Amino acid sequence: MNIGVNDGHTIKGYGTGAVGIINEGVQTRIVGTEVRRLINAAGHKAINCTVDYANSVSQSLSKIMDQANRQDLDWFIAIHFNAGGGVGVENYTYGGNQYPDAVEVCSNIAKLGFRNRGVKDGKGLYVIRKTKAKSMLIEVCFVDTADANHYLQIGYKAIAKAIVESLIGAIKATPAVAPVKVVTTGEMYRVRKTWADASSQIQAFSILANAKSYVNNHPGYSLFNSAGQNVYSVAAATLTSGTVTASVLNVRKTAVSNSAIIGKLNKGSKVKIAKKVGNMYNIYFGDNGGYVSADYIK
Ligand SMILES: [Zn+2]
Repeated sequence: MNIGVNDGHTIKGYGTGAVGIINEGVQTRIVGTEVRRLINAAGHKAINCTVDYANSVSQSLSKIMDQANRQDLDWFIAIHFNAGGGVGVENYTYGGNQYPDAVEVCSNIAKLGFRNRGVKDGKGLYVIRKTKAKSMLIEVCFVDTADANHYLQIGYKAIAKAIVESLIGAIKATPAVAPVKVVTTGEMYRVRKTWADASSQIQAFSILANAKSYVNNHPGYSLFNSAGQNVYSVAAATLTSGTVTASVLNVRKTAVSNSAIIGKLNKGSKVKIAKKVGNMYNIYFGDNGGYVSADYIK
């Protein structure tokens, strides 16, 4: 079989994916790479139909279709993660056609512990409407709910295997499922406004890193351990704009001071500030924002 595999959205420019506890654009590439590896290892042919950058959403979609429709495919599959606060896996086909393979994608992923939202009508979706081959768009799970923590625990390999086995049947040499490495302590971190106000709790996490990234997107909330100690919080920024005082200031990807540098700002540059995270300002920068040290903004 020839199977076109699209890792969802672009990673830069227009048409990028959802960001919650996990980042859709990153995870679709991790899952998609493993899906292609498994398809090829089983003696079939995976064709990568992923587009990393586009100047517009419509350009990103037509670039994907150019790759998909260049050859005869038995299946075109697009891998996505959902957002908006729900739970579970769903799969879109043209007219909601209940292809056995599409139904099985849902049931295989549901077996891993996700709710089965079923096969739905995707004819409103460009990549479903425009593919010559049979096509499905898989929303693996939600990036912004407990789904994301469960996904991190079971690991991308289990998801990729569930998808590929529904298309080509059982994979013989089953690779061991190595869950993505996470640090769990048995602790439960609660996201609340204050410890005393239990009714303000909006989430709870067993993994500190996930809890922190969730709080980063919810200014005004703090993280409390089971003893009620405030272990992390994001204050609303007192400044809403500022000027760079360092001769060159690094703009980083996350609020972690040694995270990847995504840009540089010269002394005197003006920045618009969204919020303060620890000692970093989250500033408007590029499409997805960035973080700079608060020490060098006046
Ligand atoms: Zn998506």
